[in-house]
Amino acid sequence: MQVIFVGGASGVGASCLAIQIADQWIVVDAGVRVDRKQDPLPDLALLEGKDVRAVFVTHAHADHIGALPLLHQAFPTVPIFASRGTALLMGVMLADALKVMTKRAVEEMELPLYPENLVTGMLAQVRPLPVGEPFTVPQLPGVTIHASRAGHIAGAVSLGFAAPDGSLVVSGDISITPQRTVVGAVPPPLERCDLLVLESTYGSRLHPNRQGEEQRLAQAVADGIANGGHVLVPAFGLGRGQELLLILQAAQEKGQIPDFPIYVDGLVRRVCDTYLLLPETLSPRLQRQIRKGYLPFSGPNVTFVRDERDRERILAGPPACIVSSSGMLTGGPSAWYAARLVSQANASILITGYQDEESPGKRLLDVAEHKRDTLEIGGMSVPVHCQVAKYSLSAHADGAELAGYAAALHPRRVALVHGDDEARAGLRTLLTETDVLLPRDGMTLEAEEKRAGRHARSSAHTPSTAPAQTLDSLPTGIGAGVPFDYQHVEQLWRVVRQVPTLRIVTARELALIWYGEATEETTESILDTFAQDYEQRYFIQQHALEEAYRVRGQYEETPGDFLSDLVGSVLLLLVSQESAKPVF
Ligand SMILES: [Zn+2]
Ligand SMILES: [Zn+2]
Repeated sequence: MQVIFVGGASGVGASCLAIQIADQWIVVDAGVRVDRKQDPLPDLALLEGKDVRAVFVTHAHADHIGALPLLHQAFPTVPIFASRGTALLMGVMLADALKVMTKRAVEEMELPLYPENLVTGMLAQVRPLPVGEPFTVPQLPGVTIHASRAGHIAGAVSLGFAAPDGSLVVSGDISITPQRTVVGAVPPPLERCDLLVLESTYGSRLHPNRQGEEQRLAQAVADGIANGGHVLVPAFGLGRGQELLLILQAAQEKGQIPDFPIYVDGLVRRVCDTYLLLPETLSPRLQRQIRKGYLPFSGPNVTFVRDERDRERILAGPPACIVSSSGMLTGGPSAWYAARLVSQANASILITGYQDEESPGKRLLDVAEHKRDTLEIGGMSVPVHCQVAKYSLSAHADGAELAGYAAALHPRRVALVHGDDEARAGLRTLLTETDVLLPRDGMTLEAEEKRAGRHARSSAHTPSTAPAQTLDSLPTGIGAGVPFDYQHVEQLWRVVRQVPTLRIVTARELALIWYGEATEETTESILDTFAQDYEQRYFIQQHALEEAYRVRGQYEETPGDFLSDLVGSVLLLLVSQESAKPVF
């Protein structure tokens, strides 16, 4: 096995990885750098002469897909595997990238990276990537592929590849703490893999409490409106923009902040439309809302700006909140609004995400820290009088969460990518039980041949001999009124394990056991807690059955050991209390 770090090894941008496994080459992601001071592309020349058989895409952010049309130009017949969510979002994101490139070509004489026909040609090569179940593709004989959900944004996956000569996991960008749009990451089931390629964007940080930060932001928007001015929240079009809309609307619905108009402009709006087509990639709560016909991103206070001419009218109107891309004020409608709002003392600009060193968003934060007092934006130098503040709503795991993800996989080695030197050095100190590599772009890693028998199981497996029982025999209301929490998962598992043949349980059944009643609210509390248990030590989420979990066996070490302690037992598929039926 061999890995070439083609791009994105020591920073955010131009992610691209080439892997030789079972004597075949695979490429994972091909993105661009958004910082316009650097070369935008990964060094695709490193792939020259390689017999690339397949390309895999982790998610649809520009730093992972922006160079795919050029990779496709070099390997025009090679299939590109992406989850359904990523495939749809890639179309939206690359159409936007083409628009931006055309505009820059006209206004700044900057050459576009590629023409439209390369984008359409590349999208025509996209093939489905099943998530949550192992699969093989004819292009890669001998390789089993595992794609598991990565949190982060809709459609994002982590990828695992296993072959006789080795196994590796590529985390892609991951989040662990549940967000409003997506639940947290689950590592691919390749425990003790030879190599984990792990993102490290915030490897040296601990995120503040998410709920607290969301409340702080909602309050700041409300305060800005009460101040009599407009509040601009620049947001990345894919992911952050949707989170912001849900945060602000939830705070309004709960009466924590007053009603005020929220305008949504730019790429954020188009991605909202696409998210509605992808309920299966979203949190259980959003899935239910969308399937019942609700439009969670466009409540009564929200207006999508579909005509550029409305922008002047919005700024001339009563105080309102504007959620708009781009997130770093580098272009898009947010730069247009910012250029007009920065000089107004009663206006506010609230920054919620990562800002490149050279971006106008970063320079605006410098103003807030009194490092300067004017902002160059849209070709103008504007004095800054508006309120400026920053909020941390990351879609990336922090250092402790990344270390937890690595610990769940027990890899032989970890290569840290997608982070600056400080982030990678910080994360390295947290990974004490494994070899840690800090690759540079262009570096090749030769993995040692896999040692025979390393994956052999060591502990004995005892078949269960307990008599068959049913769910009806289990106690209900064991939580005695205490809200179900992460720390109670094991207790609940011990109770469910009293029925050794019971392997699939639903959230409603678990709610009945813990709370004594299965209402929407109690079921949701079980679902939300399980969504945080990304190690899935006791209950494993089932992808084929909505809101159902497999109960881990008592002697089970890895997910592959399913059934190992069930020899001689009758297996019951218990989806609801009324419909228990034997499956063999
Ligand atoms: Zn990303
Ligand atoms: Zn990224």
